[in-house]
Order: sequence, then C-alpha cells, then structure tokens
Amino acid sequence: MREGIHPNYYQAKVVCNCGNEFVTGSTKEDIHVEVCSKCHSFYTGQQKAAAARGRIDKFNRKYGVKAD
Ligand SMILES: [Zn+2]
Repeated sequence: MREGIHPNYYQAKVVCNCGNEFVTGSTKEDIHVEVCSKCHSFYTGQQKAAAARGRIDKFNRKYGVKAD
C-alpha cells in the first residue's frame, strides 16, 4: 500500500459474546468482541460519559479507526 492513502473503511458489524450486535466504523469488516457497552461492567456501573468515551477511543484505536 502507498503511504498517504486512507485504508478501506467499513461499517463493521461488531458481535459480542453476549449476543449484542452494533455497527462501528473500522478498517475491518467484521469484529467479534468479548464485552460491549451492554454487558461490560464498566459501562453498566456508575462511571459514565467522560470515562466511557476514553474507553471507546481505545476501542477505536485498537480496531484501526482513524480519528480524522
Ligand atoms: Zn456484550
């Protein structure tokens, strides 16, 4: 691949172990995760918005989502 070219960008279907499915932008077409926003104790606990966004940002980076 040439530098400076954006990778292919999909609306990836993410499937969680809990059965939840959702769509996110990714360079991968399909993603399987062990936990999601519906079953991860972090999300269902008392911590919310700001901290959760940090987690989502890490999630996006992990799966190659460009922030630009
Ligand atoms: Zn889940």
